[in-house]
Amino acid sequence: MALLSAAGHCDADEARSAVFLGELGLDGHLRPVAGSLPAALTAARSGIRRLVVPVENGREAALAPDVDVYTVASLEEAIRLVHDGFRQEPVRVDLDAVFAKPLQSNRPDLAEVRSQHVARRALEIAATGDHHVFLWGPPGAGKSMLAERLASILPPLSLREAVAVTSIHSIAGLTRARGSDALITERPVRCPHHSISVAGMVGGGFNPKPGEVSLAHNGVLFLDEIAEFAAPVLNQLREPLETHRLTISRAGSALTFPARFLLIAAANPCPCGFYETDAGRCMCPQRSITRYRSRLSGPLLDRIDLQVAVERVAFDELCNEHASESSADVRARVLRARAFHAQRAGEKRPPPSSAVRSLLGRAAEKLTLSAREVRRVSAVAETVADLASSPTVETAHVAEALQYRRSPWRSY
Ligand SMILES: [Zn+2]
Repeated sequence: MALLSAAGHCDADEARSAVFLGELGLDGHLRPVAGSLPAALTAARSGIRRLVVPVENGREAALAPDVDVYTVASLEEAIRLVHDGFRQEPVRVDLDAVFAKPLQSNRPDLAEVRSQHVARRALEIAATGDHHVFLWGPPGAGKSMLAERLASILPPLSLREAVAVTSIHSIAGLTRARGSDALITERPVRCPHHSISVAGMVGGGFNPKPGEVSLAHNGVLFLDEIAEFAAPVLNQLREPLETHRLTISRAGSALTFPARFLLIAAANPCPCGFYETDAGRCMCPQRSITRYRSRLSGPLLDRIDLQVAVERVAFDELCNEHASESSADVRARVLRARAFHAQRAGEKRPPPSSAVRSLLGRAAEKLTLSAREVRRVSAVAETVADLASSPTVETAHVAEALQYRRSPWRSY
């Protein structure tokens, strides 16, 4: 468009008022591109009020406020649009209406999980206080079933979060097939296979694309069989777990993608899966168990607040006719506890009582907890107190928080 303006084929001042985005085919037709929503948001932020995109990108780009989005099918149409002084009707999307549309979620529900009271409670604490979770236990115990249901008890996405999620998925080229439902209104759940590469996990490529940690932004990252992931892939998780973003360095530039996710990991207790369980006999030599468990490095486990053993459910419990609590009921408690937390934000809880301090001190000694781990236990105890609507942290809250730190994995 710049060249055509310079050559006098369209009005330079009019053309300068807009951003043009699209892939130009040799026949003059335009093909859709990835990233039209973040491009539109950036245009608006830069004070540019007009964006011209290929037809297929129109509804996604129009999700951005404060910018008029025009669609054209070819370069010829773009020239005509400029020549006519943008007298075409811009694409209109009623963002509030799109966002208010009731969610037709077909996500799995916690009602389908029998028993597993400790693990269910851990998920509730995780969803309330944004704590990461590690489930270990024999195959068939229901670790994946539990993990897949964590997203169902998280608070609904805010509009701002939904726009952020949609932008990342747009850059990854995952929104083109969504058509008029361009806005992603459900929290993303990403479950990469353990054979994933470093670039797949954290992003990369010649034109850097977001990886799984960013596609899980504002949602859940589920790593099943976490001990089977390559060590360099797991090491790369530390940065996003700490800073909630991921920076990809390229010659002369660096690109940062947001990566604030809730991590839920699962693993068997040993390579064969049956170590110290009554589900079967473990045939693994001790050194292969040690090697297997050491793949989860201390620094990674340190950042996972809730570590829970998941046992196989007894047959008669599986046959129990009583339905388990639904995700909607658990989520209601999560929302109430989060509201309680928000309400007392700013006013710190009173310092812990001497009973609480002494319990923490004894536990730190007995479980040889690092200073960081003691802080994490205290954070979980705060969340447990929020769930109990308690203005103070009591010894019972700390005792429960400590229960999630007694994982045999940390001694390796
Ligand atoms: Zn084994």
